[in-house]
Amino acid sequence: MSRFLSGRFSSLKEYVPGEQPQNRRYIKLNTNESPFSPSPLVLERINSAAVSSLNLYPDNEGLALREKIADFHNIRKENVILSNGSDEILSFAFMAFCDEKRKIAFPDISYGFYRVYADLYRIEYTAVPLAPDFSVRSEDYINIGKNIVIANPNAPTGIAISLPEIEKIAASNPDYVIIIDEAYVDFGAESCIGLINKYDNLLVVQTTSKSRHLAGARLGFAFGSEELIGDLNKIRNSVNPYNVNRLTLIAGEAAFEDSGYYQSCNKKIAEIREITSEKLKALGFEVLPSKANFLFARHPSRSGKELYLSLKNNGILVRHFDKERIGDFLRITVGSEKDMNILCSILSALINGDLYPGGN
Ligand SMILES: *Cc1c(COP(=O)(O)O)cnc(C)c1O
Repeated sequence: MSRFLSGRFSSLKEYVPGEQPQNRRYIKLNTNESPFSPSPLVLERINSAAVSSLNLYPDNEGLALREKIADFHNIRKENVILSNGSDEILSFAFMAFCDEKRKIAFPDISYGFYRVYADLYRIEYTAVPLAPDFSVRSEDYINIGKNIVIANPNAPTGIAISLPEIEKIAASNPDYVIIIDEAYVDFGAESCIGLINKYDNLLVVQTTSKSRHLAGARLGFAFGSEELIGDLNKIRNSVNPYNVNRLTLIAGEAAFEDSGYYQSCNKKIAEIREITSEKLKALGFEVLPSKANFLFARHPSRSGKELYLSLKNNGILVRHFDKERIGDFLRITVGSEKDMNILCSILSALINGDLYPGGN
């Protein structure tokens, strides 16, 4: 820390992303990326003409892409805002809607950034405990009198709540903003985008990072009433009006023109998820019921840390959170069939004691 850092940030605990090792090749099942490439149309559109226009700023309104996304979801472009990854729009939403009077609540076990943004913007938050089965209990949020952010499906558990539950939460807190983070919704949960015209306090956040195979392009978006989107634009235009770059806009347009490709890939991922889940259960794992592109699992005879390290020593990266209640779980991204087969055979050997757990 330099002696110049504002005291406001001296105790800030940053978000710690999953490892992105650049020196060794791992089977990478730790950050919920897609094992499939972006659609061929994306690769075709990011051509030399696209690159040679990088001397020009992008369309700060992202009009063409917003229209495509709005058409896809059967809403209006005024209900859509684009962001540099959905992390950015979440950050804008915390900035726009929370303060010392308008606090925020979210599940105690959820996406790590919620806590980081609350700390960064000095917003008091309530961490609402998940149920013993690790599900979000919607009753806990009824009439809570605070803004709310819930990932649905939740991360890192993968467990989803239903539309009627979200509707009850939104209806019982009409004076607060309810943010539903749908980063993983395309793998089998139900989106609440259809409710944004009914509830002017509902903000739905999505991303192309997981289900449209564009984690490296950094493209997220949010849906809400024209007024909520207007407020977010006020913040966006005060921070970085050119937040989505030209190549990413082009990639995003192609991705929304080729939705069939992604739907079939996501269906395949959901199938591999179910097969892998059964195999892990056969090895003695407890596996939470996931609607996302990852599984959250623990084994009664091995600690999470031990399994994480043993897998890493054997060339497989998964995510381990050294935290209360979930320290014995591994969060395993659903990768290709081949990678999941390798994962299951290494786990089987580790659990049966046929493989040296590693450590050198
Ligand atoms: C991955 C993820 C995001 C952020 O995705 P971006 O890559 O920034 O679009 C947001 N919320 C949850 C719950 C996530 O898992």
